[in-house]
Amino acid sequence: MPGSTILEIDLDKIKYNTSQVVERCHRKGIEVIGVTKGFSAIHQIVSAMVEGGIDGLADSRMENIIELREKGFTQPITLLRIPRLSNVMEVVNYTDTSINSEITVIKALAQAAKELKKIHQVILMVDVGDLREGVLQENVLEMAKQITRFKEIKLIGLGTNMGCFGGILPSSNNLEVLVKLGCAVENQLGLKLEIISGGGTSTLMLIGNDEVPAGINQLRIGEGILLGTDTTNNRKIRWLHQDAFLLRAEVIEVKSKPSIPTGTIGRDAFGNIPEFIDIGVRKRAIVAMGKQDVNIQGINPVDERLTILGASSDHLILDIEDSEHEIKVGDVIAFSLAYSGLLSVSDSKYVGKQFKSNSGANNE
Ligand SMILES: *Cc1c(COP(=O)(O)O)cnc(C)c1O
Repeated sequence: MPGSTILEIDLDKIKYNTSQVVERCHRKGIEVIGVTKGFSAIHQIVSAMVEGGIDGLADSRMENIIELREKGFTQPITLLRIPRLSNVMEVVNYTDTSINSEITVIKALAQAAKELKKIHQVILMVDVGDLREGVLQENVLEMAKQITRFKEIKLIGLGTNMGCFGGILPSSNNLEVLVKLGCAVENQLGLKLEIISGGGTSTLMLIGNDEVPAGINQLRIGEGILLGTDTTNNRKIRWLHQDAFLLRAEVIEVKSKPSIPTGTIGRDAFGNIPEFIDIGVRKRAIVAMGKQDVNIQGINPVDERLTILGASSDHLILDIEDSEHEIKVGDVIAFSLAYSGLLSVSDSKYVGKQFKSNSGANNE
């Protein structure tokens, strides 16, 4: 679709980022599962992760997982959101493992597994402080005991999630808690846990500092591989590419205008009351992209001299006064993406996807 807003995806950079993360984790005895929810599991990107040596795949949405299976991905897949009671059959059918914290759901998974004549693997999520999903530490042993009663369910490990709701950072302390709980489960129930899953991208920081406690043997990585950033720790991961994704949008108007609107200020298109500072007449550009295409909070012009002034559903307004080269109607402006930006554009039907790699480019 020439002329439309384009998300350009450099598959070689994604493959490189994957292999770097995998190499560093493998050196510490940690497997890496690639999290595909951040880009709606676009299959070309998943393939780049697979080529980069990922140990497994994971997503929080069954729609994405079913599509991956239909595209022929045979890797182990973990469902990263607690299954809904209403779709346990699909979960057992299409995934190998799901993360869980509710015995009612696990019971239903067991029933589904019985009907489908399968064994379903469960990772019991433990809340070590972030307050999203997971059982509290004091309830882990009892819960694990209950899970082992179901013949069709295999409790393969414990996991925890951080940096999502409470913004809690992984540390050697809270991960140590998880490892110890794993040992307690093994000792008291006389079983072997294959997996102690120590979080996502925010845990990579601890790997670099050699602070991951022995016993943690899995991470579930999305953001780091895709964007080379770690939002929770507010950092760029310097050994990864940050520009595997670029969003390109076309300029449809360039004019010098006052920096304060004229007239009585009511509400903007989203019901907010906008505020302005008078910095005189400034050169502005409008690009043909808006809040319906992308979460504006999650994008930044690659040229740091440009600033985003605001957007409505279909127009994005930039201050281009300080640009070093002339920007004209028909030019294309490039934006880098944060996780929230990537999430929103990846499944927007208004944003074309263009893939780049040494083996050639192709569009979709
Ligand atoms: C989304 C998610 C991840 C991946 O997190 P990133 O920060 O993108 O690496 C890992 N685990 C769970 C449970 C998730 O929901």
